[in-house]
Amino acid sequence: MKLCVIGGDGIGPEVVDAALAALLVLLPQLEVHHAEAGWQTFVKQGVALPQETLERARECGAVLFGAAGSPAYKVAGYRSPIVELRRSLACYANIRPTTSPMGSARAVDLVVVRENTEDLYIGEEASDGEVATALRRISRAASRRVGEVACALAASRPRRKLTIVHKANILPLSDGLFRDSVREVAAGYAGLEVEEVLVDTAAYRLAANPAAFDVLVAPNLYGDILSDLAAAFGGGLGVAPSLSVGEGCAIAEPVHGSAPDIAGRGIANPQAALSSVALLLDRVWQQPALARRLQAALADTLASGVRTPDLGGQSTSAEFTRALCARLQASSAA
Ligand code: NAD
Ligand code: MN
Repeated sequence: MKLCVIGGDGIGPEVVDAALAALLVLLPQLEVHHAEAGWQTFVKQGVALPQETLERARECGAVLFGAAGSPAYKVAGYRSPIVELRRSLACYANIRPTTSPMGSARAVDLVVVRENTEDLYIGEEASDGEVATALRRISRAASRRVGEVACALAASRPRRKLTIVHKANILPLSDGLFRDSVREVAAGYAGLEVEEVLVDTAAYRLAANPAAFDVLVAPNLYGDILSDLAAAFGGGLGVAPSLSVGEGCAIAEPVHGSAPDIAGRGIANPQAALSSVALLLDRVWQQPALARRLQAALADTLASGVRTPDLGGQSTSAEFTRALCARLQASSAA
């Protein structure tokens, strides 16, 4: 088994180091390759996703990605390395589960499946300084393949419910194509309950009654936004994991970004990266027992009161990781 580890910017390297430490307790024989990407890489090398990194990622087949910090203004030649990586590795579906923490009033257990390769993320913009346009592309093929992932996932869960998110009342051609393509795929799954919800209503219903949702499937941008919203029911961005899958390669990537407000202070919550690794173990490496061990050790560590500040605790990332690894070691001895 091989893993390409890309820390990236800000808290990215901090959280992937923690996740890697835990992973190596579970899989000591894992072959690890470190590679570079991100804004800092762009500043140094003039490219955010070097060819060498892409080749390493391809060769490993599995990537652990921290975060990339992207400027909010136009920088010639810069493209988000994670968007490039997802597209280059054909990781066309991003699976973003949210489960409410133990003991919370609401039993939320939902998954946002986000289309990962098109929509506004193709980054085709133009501006004359007065008027700017951004091209949004939705294709039947990309909608169908993300629909397949979402339908298969929904069919494997007890509630077997799929919510298609779109805005076809305003964008009947593009969002209508997304909706119809997913519906076509869903028709091939017996016993699936399929509903469709306009994206603004979906945001309201998520905030008002998140427990009503099972699997949601959405175009890239809506999926990005709704999954951050959903993360609030799972304990916040510090714990929200994701896995990008597609034609063989996979990327374990926390939902959060580079968190410049806390970067370098040693207090980032590594749980999102750790749970992303659990998804990789479970769904890609076919190691459900190891994934369960990791999740159990995470739950035990939290229950023992070791928490980072985002969860109201006082532990540093390193303290959390040490406590977690000690539990993992104990569970392997047992
Ligand atoms: P962010 O997710 O980085 O941070 C939002 C808030 O959540 C911040 O207050 C941050 O401190 C907190 N937070 C995030 N992760 C945390 C963790 N693990 N532990 C504790 N607190 C955590 O979003 P942002 O601030 O809007 O974006 C910062 C940068 O990250 C931007 O440049 C953006 O482009 C980039 N970004 C990258 C990715 C990615 O690489 N996948 C995703 C989102 C944003
Ligand atoms: Mn996001």
